[in-house]
Amino acid sequence: MEKLFGNISVKENEPLKEHTTFKIGGCAKFFAVPKNIKELKQILEICKTHNMPYFLIGNGSNILIKDEGYDGVIISFKEFNDIKIFKKRDFEGVYVESGVNLFNLNQFLQNNSISGLEWSYGIPGTIGGAIKMNAGAFNHSIFEFLEEITVIKNGKIKKIKEFKSEYRNSFLSDEIIISAKLKLKSGNMHDILIKMNEFINIRKEKQPYNFPSAGSIFKRNNEIIPAKIIDDLGLKGLRMGDAMISHKHSGFIVNLGNAKAIDVIKLINCIKQIAAYAGFLFEEEIIYL
Ligand SMILES: Cc1cc2nc3c(=O)[nH]c(=O)nc-3n(C[C@H](O)[C@H](O)[C@H](O)COP(=O)(O)OP(=O)(O)OC[C@H]3O[C@@H](n4cnc5c(N)ncnc54)[C@H](O)[C@@H]3O)c2cc1C
Repeated sequence: MEKLFGNISVKENEPLKEHTTFKIGGCAKFFAVPKNIKELKQILEICKTHNMPYFLIGNGSNILIKDEGYDGVIISFKEFNDIKIFKKRDFEGVYVESGVNLFNLNQFLQNNSISGLEWSYGIPGTIGGAIKMNAGAFNHSIFEFLEEITVIKNGKIKKIKEFKSEYRNSFLSDEIIISAKLKLKSGNMHDILIKMNEFINIRKEKQPYNFPSAGSIFKRNNEIIPAKIIDDLGLKGLRMGDAMISHKHSGFIVNLGNAKAIDVIKLINCIKQIAAYAGFLFEEEIIYL
């Protein structure tokens, strides 16, 4: 293994539950943490040469990992954590690497009196994961604030300046997000903090923050709000093993302690079937790995 990855930080048989907010799933054959683009490219090259699959992980807040784990290389962006301000005439520019999580980014922005992303305070993901998923809340989504993103596609670095997106989905397929330039605006430090706290308090009030989860399991579809339908169907509290539909927010499945991926999958299938009988087609927002 050491020979294969040289000096790059790689762990073998790494338990993936430690790297997700659901705290579910088996081990990764390899868990690689590249320090820079050069190392990232080396890992991609090794995967190609040895015909090994890879998967990119941010903060693991939107994924369900199989109990059998992942027989390939998980690539983590933990070390891609730089943030810098750049000045533009008509906006406040912020350069952010893909592994920066939205908590830290918001705190950095607040410290520097930069406003715009307060709505995202409390989403437990990285900026890379947020762009890939087009994360959003409170009538905003990350795509509104993108000036440019830098990706690796087919081994080459590419800048993207035009964005089309849909609800909880980006136009990106196999692009690897390295960094983003955000367009934000200057604000008052105190007001920014008040807004951030307002948003996170709403989350804490409405969402089951005290249990591991992967956020909303299903996508909203126009007027169809899965959480409301699940509630109306009386499914709150329905449980398979240690996986349970949250009493606090019916769109969330929580891990009560020792939930297995198979419990979550059975519960999801059960919800989908009951919803389908009632005339609603639910589509998962979470990603299965
Ligand atoms: C309590 C809770 C509340 C949440 N609230 C919200 C909410 O309000 N709004 C919302 O939209 N989501 C919400 N989520 C879901 C989740 O936090 C977001 O989707 C988040 O943006 C995922 O980021 P991540 O870094 O955890 O991505 P991960 O879960 O690690 O990965 C998600 C996807 O992004 C890909 N990815 C990750 N990094 C990169 C990269 N650098 N390049 C290319 N692809 C990459 C992964 O391969 C995967 O396909 C919530 C989740 C939880 C647990």
